Amino acid sequence: MTLVEDHPAGTATGTGAPVAKGMGVSLGDPAADLRDEIAIAGGVPELPDKIWFHKTAAAVIDAERCVGCGGCIAACPSRSIGVAEDGKPTLVKMCTGCSACWDYCPLAGLSTEALHAHPPGAGIGRAPTNAANESAAANSTAARIEIGHIDSAWSVAGRASAAGVQDGGAVTALLSHLRATGFLDGAIVTRRVDAFHGEPFLATSPDQVRAAAGSVYHQSHPLQVLNEPLGKGVERIAFVGTPCQISVLRALQRFPWKYRRSSAGAVVLAIGLLCTRSFEPDKLEEAVGAVGVATSEVARVDVRDGELVVRSASTELLRRPVKEFHAASLKGCDECADFTGLGADLTVGNLASEPGRSTVLVRTEAGRDAWAAATGALDVRLLEDLSPVVQTAARDHKRAVRFLARPFDPEGPLWTSYTEHLDRYAESGRSVQAPAKFRSHHFEVTC
Ligand code: SF4
Ligand code: SF4
Repeated sequence: MTLVEDHPAGTATGTGAPVAKGMGVSLGDPAADLRDEIAIAGGVPELPDKIWFHKTAAAVIDAERCVGCGGCIAACPSRSIGVAEDGKPTLVKMCTGCSACWDYCPLAGLSTEALHAHPPGAGIGRAPTNAANESAAANSTAARIEIGHIDSAWSVAGRASAAGVQDGGAVTALLSHLRATGFLDGAIVTRRVDAFHGEPFLATSPDQVRAAAGSVYHQSHPLQVLNEPLGKGVERIAFVGTPCQISVLRALQRFPWKYRRSSAGAVVLAIGLLCTRSFEPDKLEEAVGAVGVATSEVARVDVRDGELVVRSASTELLRRPVKEFHAASLKGCDECADFTGLGADLTVGNLASEPGRSTVLVRTEAGRDAWAAATGALDVRLLEDLSPVVQTAARDHKRAVRFLARPFDPEGPLWTSYTEHLDRYAESGRSVQAPAKFRSHHFEVTC
């Protein structure tokens, strides 16, 4: 593949992993196909560890590790990936074997901690400049890895609240104001299809931003919007997403294709959402129904202070510890050490703020510019105590280090090869699985 910056030459092979002669494939790879057999038998020269979609599917999607970011869809130069009926990425036309879906997947080739340890022109680890936040906890080395660079921290509510907003509607108020004033041409946000399911779209008016108010705990591949043209006059947009999505966005921006760019370059403001884990929407709906809630009455689902809160249009239907719904969560989230959106310009969530308000962390120059442009639309107070954020980030970090079958190494290589992945995950309980044929219809044929 051809990348502009310092991506390892060729494909995800910059790590120097040992590969079988003539082909970067391990014998015993459950996703090995006819191409591999021909290459191995005949010594056909091919780039080592050249990855086709069915290998990404085998290692991530069919190993039940996909977190629904849509990065593979955004990264595919031939637009060969779409979303299947099961809500997972699938081939929709011929795969060229360019390896991009592997290289940009945060559960496959991309080691996101290494991406954020070396951000171009910025440093992870400066302490927040709020005097109130210069606590020992926020200045510790561990916290610098776990929560990243923060300029200032605020507790925020929107001045004009939209229907359905969550925790003061800070993101809705900020984005609709930035669109109304021309600071942005649009924003990629997720709107509710129903209480359990969402869909990403490009909102290009303040009304469209307001129509997407409120959270939906469904990873509906929002980065896929970046693999489509944005439309005439849409040149400066925001992207709102979970930390894994922000990581892939940063990788797409930092290592763009030379000849056909995604729309990632148009993103001038990345808003990360505090996130410990997300859910399989169908499984969550089923789990909520299993404890006696009529799911047809559910109007919204929120997670706050470790509890899952389910409401109808008029009343609270359920409030239970979110850990009771663990079986409905995305397994891949166990491997994520980024609670706070290390690559974001602004991070937003409800932890550390009182009900009805959101916590906003301002991280970068782009974040400061947007913040300065939008504060008129927001009721803001300096946040006194970031320790709940630091503690949750530390817990997330420990969990990820426990679950990752590869080393967690912020100073290590950015990319992991498929061969390395095969070996490391072999005994993990999340090993590479043969992909479903409906998902990868090239599995048994050569292209
Ligand atoms: S063509 Fe698309 S599906 Fe195939 S390897 Fe490249 S990115 Fe993946
Ligand atoms: S985790 Fe993201 S990039 Fe990886 S397969 Fe799933 S949607 Fe694609």
